[in-house]
Amino acid sequence: MINMGFFINGKELTGDDSSKVLNPADGSIVGSVASGNEKIVDIAVSAAKNAFECWWAFSAARRGEILYSCANAVKSNVDELSALLTSEQGKPIKEAKMEIFRFAHTLEHYAGMAKSLRGGSVPNLDQNPARMGLILKRPLGVCGAITPWNFPLSLAGNKLGPGLIAGNTFVLKPASTTPLTVLKVASIMFDAGLPAGVLNVVCGPGGVVGERLATHPDVAKIGFTGSTPVGKDVMSKASSTVKRVTLELGGSDPFIVMSDADVDKAVSACSVGRFFNCGQACLAVKRVFIDEPIYEEFKEKLIEKVKKITVGSGFDTSNRMGPLHTKGQREEVEGQFNDAVNKGAKILVGGNRPSGDSHDKGNYLMPTVLENCSKDSKMNTEEVFGPALPLWKVSGMNEAIEKSNDSPFGLGSSVWTKDLDAAMRAAEKIESGYTWINSISKIYDELPFGGMKESGLGSEHGYEALEHYMATKSVVMGINEA
Ligand code: NAP
Repeated sequence: MINMGFFINGKELTGDDSSKVLNPADGSIVGSVASGNEKIVDIAVSAAKNAFECWWAFSAARRGEILYSCANAVKSNVDELSALLTSEQGKPIKEAKMEIFRFAHTLEHYAGMAKSLRGGSVPNLDQNPARMGLILKRPLGVCGAITPWNFPLSLAGNKLGPGLIAGNTFVLKPASTTPLTVLKVASIMFDAGLPAGVLNVVCGPGGVVGERLATHPDVAKIGFTGSTPVGKDVMSKASSTVKRVTLELGGSDPFIVMSDADVDKAVSACSVGRFFNCGQACLAVKRVFIDEPIYEEFKEKLIEKVKKITVGSGFDTSNRMGPLHTKGQREEVEGQFNDAVNKGAKILVGGNRPSGDSHDKGNYLMPTVLENCSKDSKMNTEEVFGPALPLWKVSGMNEAIEKSNDSPFGLGSSVWTKDLDAAMRAAEKIESGYTWINSISKIYDELPFGGMKESGLGSEHGYEALEHYMATKSVVMGINEA
């Protein structure tokens, strides 16, 4: 059992209340964590505010050196951290290790950009050579980061990497069900040289801790990743103090396969894209549109592939898919595909819970593929956050694009065709923040990522993320004019 408090001002603080952290693979208790309230948030914000001037006073290059040390320290603890992540989140240990490295790589990516942070200048204002305009970039101050449970660490890294390099300090609120790895990492980063108060972690209910962050007058920005309804709520609460917000929200990503596509590669990308992390990814493949001539071939090959996915504890390296994160999450996904079946859909593979001693206590669900889901079924209208995948037949690219865009979401999308002209036209027309053409749906630190429509606001990754953590200010300087 691991018992952890809050991490504030470089120290672990205990709280009056605590909550249990459960293992999704068997329901056992992994540990407990202090559960915060408004007062604890205020203490953490005050620590971040006190640390801000000192952190900002460091050169960006020095901040970069510190983030490199933090990344190295995290990487050298990968075994312990990945085991903790699998215990509290449920994902296979291989995926947990990938997530720890992804977090470290994001810190390294922004550490590498530190020396390129700069503003600009405009000479000769009013045609006066003695009058110069300066464009300054400065940090925003204290930032709040609110993160979900599906990628507890890497999604925190998407905020901390650009935000810390830009000179901001943070109060981070992790999901209540996955606080342990993040708390451990905060203390590793402190030991690696991140000054006290620069990164503070407060766990507790989103409606209390998250809401206080969103309304706190000393918090300049909220970087939020989570569901669309909560994102909207955070945005409206943040408006009371005109905070900046970056919102990375839900998605229902289309995956289009045209008849000239490499079907084997498309099937493989589709399977990984849907069943990675047990389907609990914002950018998972969630709706598949297949050109009529290859529909049957694609379907049969996908079914064969999905039948081979082994389901079980994330600690057994022969398992490709772990449990869903919570019992409620499993019931929600089952409700969504049952709704489709009641409206005429057919389950092609899966659709059941695996049984037996090693599965009965966990939140397991077999990987599921369906066809004939009606337009009004939840498989089409809602975000499906689990291992269930609907297939639809289409006649050509135009119909596929039309169906792709018929959604309130606009996060990612995939297009598989050998006709690159058609693929580029589709990439332009599909309303999503990312399009993969003949490529697996993977995120890159180098490329900005942000949803269209109800999938989000602003960008993470790329240089663009840095801009979201800096204020731009103009200065007019009269040289010898006074
Ligand atoms: P969620 O319910 O929206 O929770 C996300 C975070 O918000 C958690 O820390 C939660 O705290 C907190 N929260 C809940 N209510 C709040 C409130 N009223 N005010 C402030 N904060 C509040 O989302 P989830 O179920 O954890 O995560 C799954 C969702 O995240 C999916 O929709 C997925 O698509 C989306 N997601 C998007 C991206 C992206 O980059 N676009 C990436 C990953 C996930 P508690 O845990 O205490 O409730």
